[in-house]
Amino acid sequence: PSGGGPAVPHPRWVRVNTLKASVDDVVRELEGHLRSKLGQTDRGGGDTGGAGKGSKGKGEPAGLVRRDPLVPELLAAPPGADLHDHPLVTRGSVLLQSKASCLPAAALAPRPGWTVVDCCAAPGNKTTHLAAIMGNQGRIIAYDKDPKRLARLKANAALTGASCISARQADFLSIDPTAPEFAQVRGVLLDPSCSGSGTTFTRMDHLLPSHRQIQQPRPTLHTAQAAAAADSAPGAATAAAGSGSNPKPGSKSKRKGGDATAGSASDSQHTTGGAAAAAAAAAAAASSLVPELDPEEAGRVASLARFQSAALAHALRFPALECLVYSTCSVHVQENELVVAGALEAAEAAGMELADPFPSWHRRGLPLFPGAEKLVRTDAYQDGTDGFFVAVFQRRAPQQQQQQ
Ligand code: SAM
Repeated sequence: PSGGGPAVPHPRWVRVNTLKASVDDVVRELEGHLRSKLGQTDRGGGDTGGAGKGSKGKGEPAGLVRRDPLVPELLAAPPGADLHDHPLVTRGSVLLQSKASCLPAAALAPRPGWTVVDCCAAPGNKTTHLAAIMGNQGRIIAYDKDPKRLARLKANAALTGASCISARQADFLSIDPTAPEFAQVRGVLLDPSCSGSGTTFTRMDHLLPSHRQIQQPRPTLHTAQAAAAADSAPGAATAAAGSGSNPKPGSKSKRKGGDATAGSASDSQHTTGGAAAAAAAAAAAASSLVPELDPEEAGRVASLARFQSAALAHALRFPALECLVYSTCSVHVQENELVVAGALEAAEAAGMELADPFPSWHRRGLPLFPGAEKLVRTDAYQDGTDGFFVAVFQRRAPQQQQQQ
């Protein structure tokens, strides 16, 4: 990548498929395998290759395989460990799935027996993760519009033994969430097509100033600011799509002044409530915080953001929804915070609110609206995994609903 490698190396992430293997057994088997590659005995010690601190007792060598603190079935092996031919992988007992990619299913945490919809599912890394978390009990309806990618999802479901997945080729926007067959849908995962900008390092260093802002005490916009922004740009949460983000190396960072012209996805969402004010304020704040993309990239990101916003609004329509996770492997605010800001009003109307997943995780959403600190980001440069974004909506407690 043109931006250079990450400051923190990425471990070889390994998700244990708990439908086929236990985490303890996989740790043991991988430790043995990696040590034999290094020419070490089981208790031989030596350099861990940077994968992590020992998980063993006093006086024992540091482990090569570290358990992830956020996702219990996720392991970190040393960076560059070549496992793609290992029998654990070829038999579907583990998946070489990055930490970032494991966060959405872990955040949704569907219970065994739930009915879940995965809206944009192929090739099924997160679908098979959901199936494992559910212990294969219940039903996952997995949509993808691309037949070749759906075939890969079916193959992955078969390999991993995730028989609770039923794969359907369809445009998610064409299904009717209020149809009787979806009456019991409690969990929804929406991981739509995105720019993929989090999977390269090319532009990350230009985003770092934004990330430093995130790491400061979590600020939110003052209500008066939100109201003022709403007056000047009503309902314009995704209107900044295409107007902001990081510049190419050496380019000047132009800034726009909160115009509301770019995002047609928000055109049907002009609203007057508190959520609308917050969304408008987010758009205005983004345009003053985030520098401009080049025109070609801006157009692509704006188009993706329109689809993402439409898909999120659609996904919020399942009547029995308890938890919805929205995720992207993008670093662009237009595909992330602004899509969420634009959905806050619809979420509120559906009785949903932002949840606060992974509270111990340090990197949160850009502080563009009250509640953005509940959003989760990962940084490819600093966090040992791809750049990623996760938002979780959960049903409001009944008491809160009555007070509305
Ligand atoms: N969640 C997947 C995983 O973890 O393996 C990755 C999903 S990928 C980011 C986005 C997927 O959305 C693509 O496979 C694409 O074909 C699908 N997609 C895009 N637009 C869609 C639509 N309107 N309806 C259904 N699927 C769609």
